[in-house]
This record gives sequence, structure tokens and C-alpha cells, in this order.
Amino acid sequence: MRKMKLRQDDEVIVIAGRDKGARGKVIRTLPAKGRVVVGKVNMVKRHTRPTQQSSGGIVNKEAPLAVSNVQFYCSNCQSGVKLGSKLLDDGRKVRTCRKCGEVLDS
Ligand SMILES: [Zn+2]
Repeated sequence: MRKMKLRQDDEVIVIAGRDKGARGKVIRTLPAKGRVVVGKVNMVKRHTRPTQQSSGGIVNKEAPLAVSNVQFYCSNCQSGVKLGSKLLDDGRKVRTCRKCGEVLDS
């Protein structure tokens, strides 16, 4: 299995599917399934049963997207990019933009 490079709070852009072109923040990663949940992207209507807390009904919720359908959004390149990685002098491994070389992890 490929290691998931995206992390929570990453900004991503959707490159395929219904929400192609939409941008949002990763709110959850599901590495075992190869999926990510992106805020306000891929919204689906969910029918919920009434509970003591709510009266139920239809709520809009984010559905997970296949990780292959999103790319990291590089604010420098203003587009979706592939991620590379680089070893810093202090031994830390950081992610980089393969297009502009910008270090993406602080
Ligand atoms: Zn870049």
C-alpha cells in the first residue's frame, strides 16, 4: 500500500470527479481506505433518524474522496502539485512541492 502523503489541514484541489476544481482543507485522512475527507467538498445528503439530540432529517455531510482524485494545492504555484520529500540538515523529513521546490512543512 502506498503511504498517504496528505495530512490533516492540508489544502487540496480536486482533480477528478463531480467536484473537480474545488478546493478545501483536509479534515480527516483514512489511510486504510486511501481516502480523505475534505471540508465542504463532495457533499452528500444524509438522512438521519430522529434522536433525543436532534429531530433528524436531511443533513449535508462531506463524503470521503479517493486520494487519487485530489492533489496538494501549492499556494506558490496556484495549482495542484505532486509532493516530493527532502531531508533537512537537522534530519527532519519535510514535504516539498515538486513543481517549485517549496518546502511545505514548517
Ligand atoms: Zn509549488
